[in-house]
Amino acid sequence: MTFDTLGLSEPLLRAVKEKGYDKPSPIQAKAIPAVLDGHDLMASAQTGTGKTAGFTLPLLHLLADKPAANSNRTLALVVTPTRELAAQIHESVLDYGKHLNLRSTVVFGGVKINPQMMKLRRGVEILVATPGRLLDLHKQNAINFNDVEVLVLDEADRMLDMGFIHDIKRIISLMPKKRQNLLFSATFSNDIRHLARGLLNNPVEIDVAPQNTTATKVEQKIHPVDKGRKAALLSHLIRHEGWHQALVFSRTKHGANKLVKLLERDDIHAAAIHGNKSQAQRTKALTEFKKGKVQILVATDIAARGIDIDQLPQVVNFDLPNVPEDYVHRIGRTARAGSSGHAVSLVSADEIKQLSDIERLINNKIPREEVEGFEPDHALPESRSGHRPTRSAQPRRSSQGNRNGQGRNPRHSDNKPAGNGGQRRRTSQQRAGNGNGNGNGNGNGNSNVRSANGNNQRPSNNGNNQPRPQKASSGNLIEPERVVRSGNR
Ligand code: AMP
Repeated sequence: MTFDTLGLSEPLLRAVKEKGYDKPSPIQAKAIPAVLDGHDLMASAQTGTGKTAGFTLPLLHLLADKPAANSNRTLALVVTPTRELAAQIHESVLDYGKHLNLRSTVVFGGVKINPQMMKLRRGVEILVATPGRLLDLHKQNAINFNDVEVLVLDEADRMLDMGFIHDIKRIISLMPKKRQNLLFSATFSNDIRHLARGLLNNPVEIDVAPQNTTATKVEQKIHPVDKGRKAALLSHLIRHEGWHQALVFSRTKHGANKLVKLLERDDIHAAAIHGNKSQAQRTKALTEFKKGKVQILVATDIAARGIDIDQLPQVVNFDLPNVPEDYVHRIGRTARAGSSGHAVSLVSADEIKQLSDIERLINNKIPREEVEGFEPDHALPESRSGHRPTRSAQPRRSSQGNRNGQGRNPRHSDNKPAGNGGQRRRTSQQRAGNGNGNGNGNGNGNSNVRSANGNNQRPSNNGNNQPRPQKASSGNLIEPERVVRSGNR
């Protein structure tokens, strides 16, 4: 299939060609005709599948024919969770729309509101926004939603994870009744389905597997370790494994900051990237990491979303995420573009629930390997990937144990090496089972080249209005293959 067959206008096809895209990705092939036909959309797709073009291209097509937006109004609203994603989507709007005469802007928090108000004053045909700042602007009468014809909720699951549900509901309540709605989400939890029910009108459902299903492989491994020794183990691994560039995930912002300090104390150049950092700090950390000036980037899940880094060889889970899908997103940061990558998780006994949830989701046991010198005093229990772990699966505090690592550990109580860790490892496959979870990923890095105005072509939108076959609503869409992130962002 080629882009020419999708019903897009010539200026858009030209822009796509200039981007170097040969053929539409699966989500684009399905989403573009559906949106052009005026349908609501419920799409299960992650970053990296080409979903941005999947909604941006038909959006631009539909808007090209419309009269310009009035002052302080917009015709299409794209709501997305993070500043990085908002900025990237807007780059795509500029890129794909460079031969059209449409106005767009992006608004997000953490920067001054006044310049954003100024930009909205004249009206824009497309507005890309994060929820909080959008509502602030609305409160200050800088934006009126009465003329919105298309509402796009991007990464809806992430927005709910980030606690934006009330903002989202408020935004929806402010929309005009008659409009087209496009909902994108990596996963479809009950909460998302509930949101979708209230939002979408007889939607076309799209569920795409990762774009590149070639067997790019993420080699996954767990190093069981006591909580208090994780930072020391990480330092040890960075040195002994010679990791020159690793993305380390921390569950909390505070944990990320603390870890950076500990690594710096060991002369390892590290930087943190999370929601409490200013946009300038985040951009600087990312740039330096990409250039190799910063060796270790410590990120929270939310901040890491939307980061576009090519060829990342090593991902480390310093903590396991509470949401198992995040594990898949995290490890998908490596092994892209056909290369193989490595994902290592430092797992302490108290994380058995998270581990069990992850192994159940990916339907695999992740091989365990203890690092000599860092064997845990609190043994990491066997996970129960088939069932929810019960209470008895949680580590029990030994009556002899204490918080200083003197807990009873029948396996190692008498053979723990005392000194600094050697490099030899002991595998513990027998405890972990012999599965090997693989993630796959892909990438097709394309940098965005901004280009301004073009001719004023306004192609007609004559999409026929044949209703498309609707997919029966399926149950849980979360399947390991699908949640394996495939993209390069
Ligand atoms: P997205 O999932 O929207 O974040 O897109 C991921 C990456 O794929 C971006 O760098 C896009 O520029 C790129 N991309 C999108 N569509 C295509 C396509 N049809 N062919 C090649 N690359 C694409």
